[in-house]
Amino acid sequence: MAGKRLTAGVLVALAPLAAQLLVTPHAGAAAVTTLYYSSSDAADYVSQIDQAAANWNNAVSDVKLVKGSGGATIVVHETDDGQGSYTSTDGHGHGQVYIDKQQVAEGFDVTRIAAHELGHNLGLPDDYDGPCSELMSGHGPGTSCTNAVPDAGEAAQVTENFAGGFAPAAPRVAR
Ligand SMILES: [Zn+2]
Repeated sequence: MAGKRLTAGVLVALAPLAAQLLVTPHAGAAAVTTLYYSSSDAADYVSQIDQAAANWNNAVSDVKLVKGSGGATIVVHETDDGQGSYTSTDGHGHGQVYIDKQQVAEGFDVTRIAAHELGHNLGLPDDYDGPCSELMSGHGPGTSCTNAVPDAGEAAQVTENFAGGFAPAAPRVAR
Protein backbone atom coordinates (compact mmCIF):
# COMPACT_ATOMS: atom_id res chain seq x y z
CA MET A 1 0.00 0.00 0.00
CA ALA A 2 2.96 2.32 -0.39
CA GLY A 3 1.71 5.50 -1.96
CA LYS A 4 3.49 6.99 -4.88
CA ARG A 5 4.93 9.77 -2.84
CA LEU A 6 6.69 7.26 -0.66
CA THR A 7 8.99 6.48 -3.53
CA ALA A 8 10.37 9.98 -3.47
CA GLY A 9 13.47 9.03 -1.56
CA VAL A 10 16.46 10.66 -3.12
CA LEU A 11 18.71 9.17 -5.69
CA VAL A 12 22.10 10.30 -4.60
CA ALA A 13 24.92 10.64 -7.02
CA LEU A 14 27.95 9.33 -5.27
CA ALA A 15 30.89 11.65 -5.05
CA PRO A 16 33.27 10.10 -2.52
CA LEU A 17 35.47 8.47 -5.12
CA ALA A 18 36.13 11.80 -6.75
CA ALA A 19 36.66 13.39 -3.39
CA GLN A 20 39.20 10.82 -2.40
CA LEU A 21 41.20 11.53 -5.49
CA LEU A 22 41.69 15.08 -4.32
CA VAL A 23 43.23 14.32 -0.96
CA THR A 24 46.14 12.41 0.38
CA PRO A 25 44.90 9.49 2.44
CA HIS A 26 45.96 9.56 6.04
CA ALA A 27 48.76 7.28 6.92
CA GLY A 28 48.65 5.07 9.98
CA ALA A 29 45.66 5.23 12.27
CA ALA A 30 42.49 6.36 10.60
CA ALA A 31 41.60 9.96 11.32
CA VAL A 32 38.15 10.80 12.58
CA THR A 33 36.12 13.10 10.39
CA THR A 34 33.71 15.21 12.44
CA LEU A 35 30.55 16.27 10.66
CA TYR A 36 28.26 18.83 12.26
CA TYR A 37 24.52 18.62 11.82
CA SER A 38 21.68 20.93 12.74
CA SER A 39 18.16 19.87 13.62
CA SER A 40 16.91 23.33 14.55
CA ASP A 41 14.59 23.38 11.51
CA ALA A 42 13.11 20.01 12.43
CA ALA A 43 11.85 20.83 15.91
CA ASP A 44 9.39 17.94 16.03
CA TYR A 45 12.07 15.35 15.42
CA VAL A 46 15.11 16.53 17.37
CA SER A 47 15.37 13.47 19.61
CA GLN A 48 14.95 11.05 16.70
CA ILE A 49 17.60 12.86 14.68
CA ASP A 50 19.99 12.73 17.63
CA GLN A 51 19.32 9.01 18.00
CA ALA A 52 19.92 8.46 14.31
CA ALA A 53 23.25 10.27 14.55
CA ALA A 54 24.17 8.25 17.63
CA ASN A 55 23.39 5.04 15.77
CA TRP A 56 25.84 6.01 13.05
CA ASN A 57 28.44 7.04 15.62
CA ASN A 58 28.13 3.66 17.27
CA ALA A 59 28.59 1.84 14.00
CA VAL A 60 31.36 3.81 12.29
CA SER A 61 34.69 4.69 13.86
CA ASP A 62 36.13 7.22 11.42
CA VAL A 63 33.14 9.54 11.15
CA LYS A 64 31.52 11.34 14.05
CA LEU A 65 28.24 13.22 13.73
CA VAL A 66 28.02 16.09 16.21
CA LYS A 67 25.08 18.41 16.72
CA GLY A 68 25.90 22.07 16.30
CA SER A 69 23.83 24.68 14.53
CA GLY A 70 26.76 26.97 13.81
CA GLY A 71 28.68 25.80 10.80
CA ALA A 72 26.66 22.65 10.36
CA THR A 73 27.16 21.14 6.94
CA ILE A 74 24.22 18.74 7.32
CA VAL A 75 20.98 20.58 7.97
CA VAL A 76 17.77 18.71 8.76
CA HIS A 77 14.40 20.25 7.95
CA GLU A 78 10.86 19.05 8.40
CA THR A 79 8.40 19.47 5.57
CA ASP A 80 4.72 18.79 5.07
CA ASP A 81 4.43 18.50 1.32
CA GLY A 82 3.77 14.77 1.07
CA GLN A 83 6.62 14.27 -1.35
CA GLY A 84 8.43 11.87 0.92
CA SER A 85 11.58 12.41 2.89
CA TYR A 86 14.70 13.08 0.88
CA THR A 87 18.18 14.50 0.90
CA SER A 88 20.11 16.81 -1.35
CA THR A 89 23.74 16.01 -0.72
CA ASP A 90 27.18 15.62 -2.19
CA GLY A 91 27.36 12.26 -0.45
CA HIS A 92 30.28 13.45 1.59
CA GLY A 93 29.00 15.32 4.60
CA HIS A 94 27.28 18.29 3.01
CA GLY A 95 23.54 18.08 2.66
CA GLN A 96 20.02 19.25 3.25
CA VAL A 97 17.75 16.60 4.75
CA TYR A 98 13.97 16.91 4.52
CA ILE A 99 11.77 14.78 6.76
CA ASP A 100 8.22 14.64 5.45
CA LYS A 101 5.64 14.88 8.22
CA GLN A 102 3.02 13.20 6.02
CA GLN A 103 5.29 10.20 5.57
CA VAL A 104 5.71 10.06 9.32
CA ALA A 105 1.93 10.27 9.73
CA GLU A 106 1.58 7.21 7.51
CA GLY A 107 3.55 5.25 10.07
CA PHE A 108 7.12 5.32 8.86
CA ASP A 109 9.58 5.42 11.74
CA VAL A 110 11.17 8.84 12.16
CA THR A 111 14.47 7.59 13.55
CA ARG A 112 14.81 5.20 10.62
CA ILE A 113 14.03 7.99 8.16
CA ALA A 114 16.62 10.25 9.78
CA ALA A 115 19.27 7.53 9.85
CA HIS A 116 18.54 6.65 6.21
CA GLU A 117 18.87 10.25 5.08
CA LEU A 118 22.05 10.69 7.09
CA GLY A 119 23.29 7.61 5.27
CA HIS A 120 22.97 9.52 1.99
CA ASN A 121 25.10 12.28 3.49
CA LEU A 122 27.67 9.63 4.28
CA GLY A 123 27.73 8.45 0.69
CA LEU A 124 25.33 5.54 0.63
CA PRO A 125 22.83 5.00 -2.21
CA ASP A 126 19.28 3.74 -1.91
CA ASP A 127 18.63 -0.01 -1.90
CA TYR A 128 14.85 -0.18 -1.73
CA ASP A 129 14.82 -3.92 -2.41
CA GLY A 130 17.07 -4.60 0.56
CA PRO A 131 15.98 -6.07 3.89
CA CYS A 132 14.85 -4.16 6.96
CA SER A 133 18.26 -4.79 8.49
CA GLU A 134 19.65 -2.27 6.03
CA LEU A 135 19.03 1.42 6.55
CA MET A 136 19.22 2.17 2.88
CA SER A 137 16.28 -0.07 2.03
CA GLY A 138 14.33 2.94 3.27
CA HIS A 139 10.58 2.64 2.84
CA GLY A 140 10.99 -0.59 0.89
CA PRO A 141 10.25 -2.98 3.77
CA GLY A 142 7.19 -0.96 4.78
CA THR A 143 6.05 0.76 7.92
CA SER A 144 6.57 -2.31 10.09
CA CYS A 145 10.32 -1.86 9.68
CA THR A 146 11.64 0.38 12.42
CA ASN A 147 15.31 -0.58 12.25
CA ALA A 148 17.38 2.59 12.52
CA VAL A 149 20.83 1.01 12.74
CA PRO A 150 23.11 0.45 9.74
CA ASP A 151 24.14 -3.09 8.99
CA ALA A 152 27.79 -4.14 8.89
CA GLY A 153 28.06 -3.65 5.15
CA GLU A 154 26.70 -0.13 5.31
CA ALA A 155 29.02 0.78 8.16
CA ALA A 156 32.01 -0.61 6.28
CA GLN A 157 31.10 1.35 3.16
CA VAL A 158 30.89 4.61 5.10
CA THR A 159 34.23 3.91 6.75
CA GLU A 160 35.70 3.43 3.30
CA ASN A 161 33.99 6.55 1.95
CA PHE A 162 35.64 8.70 4.61
CA ALA A 163 39.05 7.07 4.57
CA GLY A 164 40.38 10.22 2.92
CA GLY A 165 38.75 12.63 5.34
CA PHE A 166 36.35 15.48 4.72
CA ALA A 167 37.25 16.85 1.33
CA PRO A 168 34.46 18.98 -0.06
CA ALA A 169 32.99 17.42 -3.16
CA ALA A 170 31.07 19.13 -5.89
CA PRO A 171 27.49 19.67 -4.75
CA ARG A 172 24.97 17.52 -6.52
CA VAL A 173 21.24 17.87 -6.08
CA ALA A 174 19.03 14.91 -6.78
CA ARG A 175 15.63 13.76 -5.63
ZN1 LIG B 1 17.01 7.29 0.25
